[in-house]
Amino acid sequence: MKRIVVLGATGSIGRSTLEVIARFPDRFRVVGLSARRNVELLAKQARRFRPEAVAVTEEGALGRLKILLGDNKIRILFGEEDLSALAGEVEADVVVNALVGAVGLKPTLAAIGAGRDVALANKETLVMAGDLVMRKAREQGVRILPIDSEHSAIWQCLRAGRGEEMRRLILTASGGPFWGKEGSEEATVEEVLAHPIWQMGQKVTVDSATMMNKGLEVIEAHWLFGIPVERIEVVVHPQSVVHSLVEFRDGSLIAQLGWPDMRLPIQYALTYPERLPGVWKPLDLAEVGALSFYRPDVTKFRCLALGYEAAREGGTAPAVLNAANEVAVNAFLEGRISFGEIARIDEAVMARHRALPDPSLEEVLEVDRWARCVAGEWVEGGRV
Ligand code: MG
Repeated sequence: MKRIVVLGATGSIGRSTLEVIARFPDRFRVVGLSARRNVELLAKQARRFRPEAVAVTEEGALGRLKILLGDNKIRILFGEEDLSALAGEVEADVVVNALVGAVGLKPTLAAIGAGRDVALANKETLVMAGDLVMRKAREQGVRILPIDSEHSAIWQCLRAGRGEEMRRLILTASGGPFWGKEGSEEATVEEVLAHPIWQMGQKVTVDSATMMNKGLEVIEAHWLFGIPVERIEVVVHPQSVVHSLVEFRDGSLIAQLGWPDMRLPIQYALTYPERLPGVWKPLDLAEVGALSFYRPDVTKFRCLALGYEAAREGGTAPAVLNAANEVAVNAFLEGRISFGEIARIDEAVMARHRALPDPSLEEVLEVDRWARCVAGEWVEGGRV
């Protein structure tokens, strides 16, 4: 029986994770759940899965959760520090990190420190501190199991050859709602959130529209698979059926295909190295018809270029890009800046930073705070 903690249980990935877990009650047991503020859903999940502990991070959510759960012996934790306690102290085999944003880093480290495998949907963990996290995982002998669909695809493709035989990784990108369209600079929140293929949380949907998501995923792939960023390529594939590919040194390309459905990579991460039956519709190639691929336009999708630049610069640069982008995306969702300004703020904050090599956790958190502050000034002042 695998004991599982799900961080970010009420979000899109968290809900899909619980759906997968519920199908295999003789294999998985939920021992911890966390949410930011959706206490109604969290309480419902807690009553169904009977974890040992639950955590909420947003002020004001705690009292309501206590009332909703009544006295049914579930330990209730509160705040970001307790999120790390949930990841590290509750006895578990796997911690699923489905948190959104920089807040996911410390719980990942707590889980690794406690010797838990981490099923990782929180790409920011590796973007901010990939070197540190992968090194710690090796020291502790724990696995980082990718949930991000592209990285799960690569991980699956790598079963076709050895690590030293891989020549290139090819990440596919849907291109988001503005692929092949002009004039997205002033797009509304509603237009940006109308992703043509994937149903996802708001942050990653906006990142998908700017293609920052793919920029962050390049960095994530670099750390996960230990391959130089020069050997990671992005190709736009609007159907999102080919989830990513590995090119081996003999020139053979291995791809993983499926309908866009996050339950597959989640289940694979939880059951690895086994494959269990899936409930989703199998891919029908004739129904898909044609698959198309294009080179991304990095002058239009500036955020993708910024992701590559941060990856090449290394050190603290990706953490700065990530923090600036989180502030900019939030400001856009709150209607305070235009869609086009997201990339300009990201670029402006990056330009003011000189990357520190091999940063410690403290240094990463320090530049994260600094970048948020600078990005916040730009949002306030409209100086981009
Ligand atoms: Mg992805």
